[in-house]
Amino acid sequence: MEKRIRMTWMAMAAITISLASALWILSVQAQEKKGDTFVKMNKEELKKQLTPMQYKVACEGSTEAPFTGAYWDHFEGGRYLCVVCKEPLFESGTKFHSGTGWPSFWAPVKNESVGEKDDYSYMMHRIEITCKKCGAHLGHVFDDGPKPTGKRYCVNSASLLFEKDSTGTR
Ligand SMILES: [Zn+2]
Repeated sequence: MEKRIRMTWMAMAAITISLASALWILSVQAQEKKGDTFVKMNKEELKKQLTPMQYKVACEGSTEAPFTGAYWDHFEGGRYLCVVCKEPLFESGTKFHSGTGWPSFWAPVKNESVGEKDDYSYMMHRIEITCKKCGAHLGHVFDDGPKPTGKRYCVNSASLLFEKDSTGTR
């Protein structure tokens, strides 16, 4: 009985990873089309400030490969800021293990910090999330997260900058 449960769990994990990888491949193919996601700041300046990956994700709406970013498996106490404008977006207290390979949170610091808009790319409906202050692309939000919100904010590490909590775990 226990073995069967474990097999089912492993099959589900394999399917999740396959889906995540497939989504990533699709997004890489289409990322050139989304070049105007980010418009509110000087692009030449940003190219100097950010790494090429940070620029591609935050400014062009691209998606980093799962299990590759700096924060998907990072659980120190602190805050995650927008990589472009340094606005606090998420806190370590709402971060959880989603198994997707991307940093996942069940809530933003403040609802008004994160903008949402419909994304119909890849023949499906998803909700893109952005930094409301500067417009940087963050990722997507889904309705399959844990309690208390039931939301899963799936964010690229490349869109975030971690700031360690000075009063916490040090
Ligand atoms: Zn921002």
